[in-house]
Amino acid sequence: MSSVLVDNIGELVTNSPWEGERDPLGIRRNVALLVEDGVVAWIGPTRDAPAADRRIDAGGAAVLPGFVDSHAHLVFAGDRAAEFAARMAGEPYTGGGIRTTVGATRAASDDELRATVGRLRAEMTRQGTTTVEIKSGYGLTVADEARSLRIAAEFTADTTFLGAHVVPAEYADRPDDYVGMVCGPMLAAAAPYARWIDVFCERGAFDVDHARAILACGQAVGLGVRVHANQLGPGPGVRLGVELGAASVDHCTHLTDADVDALAGSETVATLLPGAEFSTRSPYPDARRLLDAGVTVALATDCNPGSSYTSSMPFCLALAVRELRMTPAEAVWAATAGGAAALRRTDVGRLARGARADLVILDAPSHLHLAYRPGVPLIRQVLQNGVPQCRP
Ligand SMILES: [Zn+2]
Repeated sequence: MSSVLVDNIGELVTNSPWEGERDPLGIRRNVALLVEDGVVAWIGPTRDAPAADRRIDAGGAAVLPGFVDSHAHLVFAGDRAAEFAARMAGEPYTGGGIRTTVGATRAASDDELRATVGRLRAEMTRQGTTTVEIKSGYGLTVADEARSLRIAAEFTADTTFLGAHVVPAEYADRPDDYVGMVCGPMLAAAAPYARWIDVFCERGAFDVDHARAILACGQAVGLGVRVHANQLGPGPGVRLGVELGAASVDHCTHLTDADVDALAGSETVATLLPGAEFSTRSPYPDARRLLDAGVTVALATDCNPGSSYTSSMPFCLALAVRELRMTPAEAVWAATAGGAAALRRTDVGRLARGARADLVILDAPSHLHLAYRPGVPLIRQVLQNGVPQCRP
């Protein structure tokens, strides 16, 4: 058994409040945290800390659970910087650029794709992310979707089959045939490597009937449901996700009162992706409206080469505070415990006895600094399963 003691923690965000405690962050001050065999074994006052094989002095800084980035598209090739520049010069975002990435991804070797995922995963780690969900969706053939998921599974247990990202060009005039292929041979090839199934339910992508059919096929083979919904305009995606018991509906930018009510009465998490609105210069979702209605909110990066090429949870968290009307505490919770809820995980996103020792030591005395000091590299050290990942 190996043990690590992190002591002199000035502020520990546990996301595990005591019974009756009002603050969901469950903050403890002047404590130490003992890790045994990769999980949290003890939290208590520094002066009472047990001995350990190794000691990490937090120096009075804030420590929080590692970020849980529950929405990322990391298996792709090429970049779309020129498209971004064109958008910033006034062209609208339509989602059509996905096909550009599909062409580059199909042409790439396994090793090229693997190197890109590895590079982005390392970027994420340096910025405090300890759990990431990775989607397919730039292959859109049976073989390319299966290999995208096979490569994604080398990096995470939370892999998502997104064969229904867009209808590829070769099926443009026969979308029914494409949906049949997604539900048939593509799902069969993808399912062994996938935990989740997802659909881009949006005008110009998949309508509600196609989306329902695809998600139902995934559920029938044991995959959990997630939906890209209500990003570009109002639509039925959010309510479809709630109807099917989705773990999460993602984007939620354009919501009606009925959408908010449906979410509030469900177990489905609303995952907000403000990097996408930033990168497409679009109106932001209103987290305040969701939170006030009692909806569980998560924050994620949507890291992808077209509409949100950021791997930074601290950046998204700062955007959420400034632009989505979240408090700093709500944003920290959404980026950690919220992400875990969106992935239906109880082992991450919190720091309590028995949880995975995935944690971040900040170069700051408080979690407030993540939004208060946007753009500043405040991640001093990251522990994954209790193992230090990076140092300054
Ligand atoms: Zn996405």
